[in-house]
Amino acid sequence: MTLRGAADTTFAEGAGLAWRACPGGHDAALRLSGARLPVVGTARLYTCGITPYDVTHLGHAATFIWSDLLTSVWRLCGVDTVGCRNVTDVDDVLTRAAGAHGSDFAQFALQQEYAFDKDMTALRVRRPAYEPRARHYIRTVQQLAEALLAAGHAYLRNGFVFFRGAHVAQASGLPREEALARSAEFGDDPHDRDRDDPFDVAVWRPSAPGEPAWPSPWGPGRPGWHAECAAMALSVLGPSVDVLAGGEDLAFPHHAYQAAMVEAVTSVAPFARARLHVGAVHQGGAKMAKSTGNLTLVADLLHDHSPAAVRLLVLDRPWHTPWEYRPGDLDRVASRLETLYAAAGRPGGAGHAAAGVVEALLDDLDVPRAIGIAVADGGEAARLLLRVLALA
Ligand code: ZN
Repeated sequence: MTLRGAADTTFAEGAGLAWRACPGGHDAALRLSGARLPVVGTARLYTCGITPYDVTHLGHAATFIWSDLLTSVWRLCGVDTVGCRNVTDVDDVLTRAAGAHGSDFAQFALQQEYAFDKDMTALRVRRPAYEPRARHYIRTVQQLAEALLAAGHAYLRNGFVFFRGAHVAQASGLPREEALARSAEFGDDPHDRDRDDPFDVAVWRPSAPGEPAWPSPWGPGRPGWHAECAAMALSVLGPSVDVLAGGEDLAFPHHAYQAAMVEAVTSVAPFARARLHVGAVHQGGAKMAKSTGNLTLVADLLHDHSPAAVRLLVLDRPWHTPWEYRPGDLDRVASRLETLYAAAGRPGGAGHAAAGVVEALLDDLDVPRAIGIAVADGGEAARLLLRVLALA
C-alpha cells in the first residue's frame, strides 16, 4: 500500500520506510553527536554483537534497538544500508560457560544465538544483512596478524602475536590508570610481563588444553577479541565503516583497538566515520551486567509488556545517555504509547509536521522531539513515527 500525504511527502509502506522526498532534499543528512554524516552510495554499519553465553538483558537490547533505528532513519531518507552484527563465539567467557554446561563451545553458542534471535525478533529488531561468527574468520585473523607483523605493528612472543597499542591508549584521552583498569576489566591483562608495553594486546594467543584452538604459523591458538572484530569488519564491510555501534563501554578498549588494527593494515583512516556508543542501562544504581547479577531479561519484560512498550522505553531518550531502569517506567511508557496511537488516529499531520518528525530523527536520532511533534500534530506525522520506531 502506498500512502500519500502532502505533495512533497510520499512514502511507501510495504517495503517499510522509503521516504521519497526527504526534507532538505540532497542536503538531508543524518547528524550524529553534532557532526553531519552524509552518505554517498551505501551506508555501512558495524554493530558489535553478542558473546552468546547467556540470555539477553535490557542493556544488550538497547544497543541493538538503537542500531536498528539508525538503519530505519537512513532508509527513511532513501539511503541503502548494509549492516553487519558479529557474533563473538570464540571467547573465554563463552568457553567457560559451555564447559559448565558440558557442551562444545560452538554448539553452546548456537543455542544461545537461537534465544537471542528470538528476543530480537520479538522486539522487531530486523536482522542485519551479515551476522558473521568469529569462528568462521580464524584465517582472516591470521592474515591480519601476518600483515601487522610484516609492517612492524605487532611482534611474536611465546606463541602470542601482540599488537603494539601504546598509542591507542594515548589517543583514547583516558587517564593512564583508568585505561589500565578498563583493559584489565575486558581481559587484556596489562600486567603481563611478556608484553613490551601494558597496552599491547593479543591478536593471536596460544590455547590451553580444553580451549578452542586452530593451527597457525605461531602454534595452535585462537584470536584475540579486538582482532576478531577487526577481521570480521574488514572481511564483510571493507576498510572503513560509516558508523561503528555498540554499548558505551566498548569505546575503550574494544573499539579503539579494533579501529587501530584495521587502520594499521589498510592505511585507511578513520576506520569509523562516526560512532553510536549507546548509553548503558543501570539497575539498582549499577550497570546492568551478568557479573553483578542486576539484570532484567528481555524475555521476562516481554512476558508482561508489549514489544512496542519495551522499544519506546529504550528509544524515548538521548541514545548516548546512561539511564536507570525502574519497573514502573513501563507503565508511564504504556500511557505515552496510547497518546501516540490516539494522535495517529487523528486527521492531518502531513507536510510540515511529518517533515518535522523526519528532521528530528535526522538530528542525532532525537526521538523525544519527534514524539513531541507527532503528538502535537497527530495524523500522518504520528503514523510515520510509529512506523519508523516500529511501534505500530
Ligand atoms: Zn566488536
